[in-house]
Amino acid sequence: MSKTLQAVRGMNDILPDEAEIWEQFEEIVRNWLHSYGYRPIRMPLVEPTPLFKRAIGEVTDIVEKEMYSFEDALNGEHLTLRPEGTASCVRAAIQHNLLFSHPRRLYYQGPMFRHERPQKGRYRQFHQVGVEALGFEGPDIDAEHILMCARLWDDLGLDDVKLEINSLGSSEERAVHRAALIAYLEQHQARLDEDGKRRLYTNPLRILDTKNPDLQDIVEGAPKLAEFLGEESIKHFEGVQAVLKDAGLPYRINHRLVRGLDYYNRTVFEWVTTRLGAQGTICAGGRYDGLIAQLGGKPAPAAGFAMGVERLLALWQESGGQAERIVPDVYLVHAGEEAQRAAFRVSEMLRGTGFSVTQHCGGGSFKSQMKRADASGAPFAVVIGDDEAAAGEVSLKPLRDGGEQLRVPMEVLPETLADRLIESEEDDGSI
Ligand code: ATP
Ligand code: MG
Repeated sequence: MSKTLQAVRGMNDILPDEAEIWEQFEEIVRNWLHSYGYRPIRMPLVEPTPLFKRAIGEVTDIVEKEMYSFEDALNGEHLTLRPEGTASCVRAAIQHNLLFSHPRRLYYQGPMFRHERPQKGRYRQFHQVGVEALGFEGPDIDAEHILMCARLWDDLGLDDVKLEINSLGSSEERAVHRAALIAYLEQHQARLDEDGKRRLYTNPLRILDTKNPDLQDIVEGAPKLAEFLGEESIKHFEGVQAVLKDAGLPYRINHRLVRGLDYYNRTVFEWVTTRLGAQGTICAGGRYDGLIAQLGGKPAPAAGFAMGVERLLALWQESGGQAERIVPDVYLVHAGEEAQRAAFRVSEMLRGTGFSVTQHCGGGSFKSQMKRADASGAPFAVVIGDDEAAAGEVSLKPLRDGGEQLRVPMEVLPETLADRLIESEEDDGSI
């Protein structure tokens, strides 16, 4: 026997019980995004590799070692499965001239791909909900993004999510800080780890983000970017904080928050929880004023963030969030040739009047069909035997409470069913 095939390591199947939770989550997320005036955009999963190299930066974890890149076998084009959405979204906005007349509030969701070591909360195919506000300059939009995240945590009933913010300043300020940082790190060069040595001249800021415990004292003593911020950057950062304070939203300034992608400037933020072990960042984002121009667009400021759906869902479930099982209103059982023809007519009629119906397929005795009806979770079975079919009638059988079985003409079924559903929900106490 040949070995059965398995999914690619780090890429998960989301089975029905779980996928229903995803759908419920997605609905909450969509309503939340619409309530802030964000509009959907959908980009391809595959992009030209240079897009990510230019946007995310050559000396980043993502570009150095996490991208699924390949050559198109037909034309040799260099392609990559998207590791994140901002670069694609900005590419699309430039390509379609979306910023022609006004700024844009956009969102997307879907799978992202990174070749990482799979573990809890870290996968090779994972999902993000991404939000991008293109063409907005002031601290107000940064604050809006942070406040809207707080509202989503609230909508989902999450507690234990903490906000960390920082300012990365402008690129000029970063350049001055960078020179000071390199001079400082050079004094400790011998103690740097391999990543640190390699990044010393290419991306020293990222050394501050190291998780290596042996480097913590070096990192602690390093010149802080905050000390190099100019007046405008300070004002911007204070503008963000003023809104957060007004809203009563607690936050911590984390001077070491630098983010793993090169395109950020000024405000950056992360939402972290201690309840998911090592993979505790559920949402991260910030301002990226240079990116649109860097990708060839007319210069325009922008800011955005992305949430890790798997991590958020783990936290949601941990906090008691769960989906109600989606059940049909009716499971329709039938036996006999005439009855089967009637079954199709009745099912379609019910669906046409707004009910959800699972029609039994695959034959079998009434008894075995009723077992399936029970297992479906439907509150009612509609039963059609040949004698019902001949009389143009159906039987309506309650499955959950001990209510009476009724036999009614087919045409009045929708009305009867509607009444009975309301009654059974009232009995349930669910309305
Ligand atoms: P990390 O430090 O955990 O690797 P990151 O800085 O690489 O995160 P971002 O690129 O900012 O992550 O992506 C935004 C969010 O997407 C993260 O905060 C996280 O919730 C989620 N995320 C990132 N990589 C993965 C992954 N491999 N598996 C699951 N979720 C992920
Ligand atoms: Mg990462």
